[in-house]
Amino acid sequence: MQYEEIRRQVLGAIREAQARGLIHGTSGNIAVRQPGGDVVAITPSGRPYDTMQPEDIAIVTLSGEWIDGPYRPSSETPMHTAVYRARPDVGATVHTHALYSTVMAMGLDELPPSTPPQAEFAPMRVIPFAVPGSQKLADYVTGALGADGLAVLLRNHGNFCCGRDIGAAMTAAVYVEEAAQVAYHAALLGQFHPLAAEDVQACKDMLAAGRAV
Ligand SMILES: [Zn+2]
Repeated sequence: MQYEEIRRQVLGAIREAQARGLIHGTSGNIAVRQPGGDVVAITPSGRPYDTMQPEDIAIVTLSGEWIDGPYRPSSETPMHTAVYRARPDVGATVHTHALYSTVMAMGLDELPPSTPPQAEFAPMRVIPFAVPGSQKLADYVTGALGADGLAVLLRNHGNFCCGRDIGAAMTAAVYVEEAAQVAYHAALLGQFHPLAAEDVQACKDMLAAGRAV
């Protein structure tokens, strides 16, 4: 099997995202870039993840051309490949329709972090709705991520996270959903007090220096 390692990483990440309750059924999609290469492995479209095998994972070029695998790549491939083209530092991308991210994306322009580990993924900007698979959505995602962003929330849709590798991208997906979950519950109690901007920056500085927060 060609591209076996990145196919296995995609499938392993799907299993983890399922176990964490971040994706259900066939929703959400995950991609991993071939190190040093110009192709990505990405979940196929509309296939049940429960019975998926590594060889079922699609391989596409960075322009989104389907070059290997028995099933058509995810219909949401354009936003993933747009990020890989724009950001050479990105090695993996995770898109989910996670519940709290979806809820909080309806009422905010940006999701502020509430705890130090969440600060790494700020700013978590909310982008307007655009049809899945559209160039407009790809443009919104790459625009909101900018040169070094790690996460965006998609209004009426979910979230999109990236990282240097699949572990980092999955960590982002977990903490973004956690940030949304904390914000939701705190707002419900009428006591939503996210981290102050200077504390977010201080935490980011510590993380950048390799220290735990
Ligand atoms: Zn989606």
